[in-house]
Amino acid sequence: MRAVTSAVPPLEIQGLRFGYGRAETVRGVSLTLLPGDCYGFLGHNGAGKTTVMRLALGLLRPHAGSVRILGHDALRSPRLARAGVGALIERPGFHLHATAHRNLAWLARLQGQPRRLAAADASRTLELLGLGAAAGRPVGGFSMGMRQRLGIAAALLGRPRLLLLDEPGNGLDPEGIADLRRLLRRLADDGTTILLSSHQLLEIDGLCNRIGVLREGAMVVEGDLESLRAGLSTRHVVAGHPLRALEQRLRDLGLAPAAVGNRLTVELGDRAPGAVARELVAVGELEAFAPEPPTLEAIYLRATNGEPWQVPARADTKAPAAEPALPQPTWTTAQRPLLRAFGHELRTTFGRRSTWPLLCVPVAVAAWSVLAYDRRTTESARRVASGQVFSADAGSAFVATAHALQAAVPVLAVVALWLASQTIAAELSHDILRNTLLRSVRRADVLLGKFAAILVALGAGFVATVGGTAALAAALLGFHDLEEVSRHGDRQVLAAATDVVPVLLRSVMHCVPPLAAAAAIGLAASALARRPARAVLLALLLVLAPEILRDALHDHAGWLLTSHLPTGLRDDSAIGYLEAAARGAADAFWRWRGTALVAPLAWMVLPFGVAAATLRRLRVP
Ligand code: ATP
Repeated sequence: MRAVTSAVPPLEIQGLRFGYGRAETVRGVSLTLLPGDCYGFLGHNGAGKTTVMRLALGLLRPHAGSVRILGHDALRSPRLARAGVGALIERPGFHLHATAHRNLAWLARLQGQPRRLAAADASRTLELLGLGAAAGRPVGGFSMGMRQRLGIAAALLGRPRLLLLDEPGNGLDPEGIADLRRLLRRLADDGTTILLSSHQLLEIDGLCNRIGVLREGAMVVEGDLESLRAGLSTRHVVAGHPLRALEQRLRDLGLAPAAVGNRLTVELGDRAPGAVARELVAVGELEAFAPEPPTLEAIYLRATNGEPWQVPARADTKAPAAEPALPQPTWTTAQRPLLRAFGHELRTTFGRRSTWPLLCVPVAVAAWSVLAYDRRTTESARRVASGQVFSADAGSAFVATAHALQAAVPVLAVVALWLASQTIAAELSHDILRNTLLRSVRRADVLLGKFAAILVALGAGFVATVGGTAALAAALLGFHDLEEVSRHGDRQVLAAATDVVPVLLRSVMHCVPPLAAAAAIGLAASALARRPARAVLLALLLVLAPEILRDALHDHAGWLLTSHLPTGLRDDSAIGYLEAAARGAADAFWRWRGTALVAPLAWMVLPFGVAAATLRRLRVP
């Protein structure tokens, strides 16, 4: 049995104002949706319908006004407000390489659904939209109409109580539109409240019980469709012979008939229909004389022609006393937003086709470096044995590891910059970020989730790099003292393993903060640049450009991030120190040890702050 809850208007917008530039795009829009309403939001191209929906969903911040969704202040508590909302705004964006089912299951889990429920919900909504057969296909191969259906399916995940659909019929074939109308009718009958924007009147007619018409950002008329029809005088259709005589008679009566094909339409004003019919019968053969209720088109045109229109309130407008509530889901969407965002970002980061290959690059570079070092030491030993040189070091896994990290850590830093710079920017370009932000999560949660997911990916790459390097170096060379071997077979210890082990451990640990900083810089670049290519260039620039200050900074150059990463040109980092110590160099020196922790931390916190501030104010199209 359904629970009964008090009827809070599912959507209440009051005095909403907004402008993209100086001109106001939304001028004091107010509208209220009552439970179970199917509300047609009409207006010409560019009237501001999509903008109002974006404002209601928190994708844009209004300059003035208030939005309440399901009883929550959508501007102050967007997470709670969006917990019961499903939305489709303009083009739906998806991960193109992932299947339709996987895309939806990811979103369902972001909403807070447990894994099995999410998979079942994804299948359910795909079936509802007629995409069951395409569930296992990558979205990249979908037609425009199929993507639109998928967007609607995504909006229906979790059985939302309020559904905001922006031109859902875009790209659908006539069969698809008919199916969509049937589906929306059923959802509305089941108690879902729907706001449906369109400039296709046929999409709205017969489906919505209320409409609002927007003109140049202002609501020109809003009301119950029946009341609006009642507010317009009904036209009568006249058919008969001779049509000319009938038309002339109507004119003689002071009316203004209009010929439409082989019929006439006429507004009778305050004349009694019976009296007019008798007049017509007197001059010809009257075949039809019937009232024609105002079409939605007539209402729309009347609303948009600029004349003031007082809509009479209907006495039988839905009484907001009590509403049948939809069966509540067993999961609560508004809980643990950070964890949900982190899980989502983790799934999408590792679900991306490029992540694993990218993470394998530093592993391969490190392995190649160890093999090259092993070849060099074998060659040196051969030359010593053949008497070409007097002595050479015998090689050790410590030196091999140091060389490998010198080669692989910069690559990993570039991977960090790449992965992070592609998050917000690429998701904005592909309309994916909107899908995430439409769910019940705060932007701060999304950013932290992205950062944490990238750190996990980097961590995996780093562990694989260090672990792989250590295992290969141990197998080929062994972690023992580095000895110099002379032609006569004398051996002299250059670097004792017991001295190098702590340096190795410390150096490995000190690789982590600069890599995390690179990820934060990538995120900031991603939020600032908004385009994937520009973002990666900006990220590289942010890391490398400060290098030109190195000479000017003198003893403060330790504050440069590049002082804590091997760069190929110079290596004053912990790894450089490890390399010197492992070789047994007498002048082994960690130049920027004093700032080895604080400088990368500063490079992490500052860009993260920039990314957070930028994302907070970001207008999501
Ligand atoms: P349509 O029916 O064509 O989708 P709409 O009623 O949904 O139109 P909106 O997309 O809300 O209209 O656009 C309202 C106005 O805001 C238009 O004049 C449009 O040019 C402008 N606009 C929309 N997005 C932006 C943007 N990102 N930057 C600047 N102006 C914008």
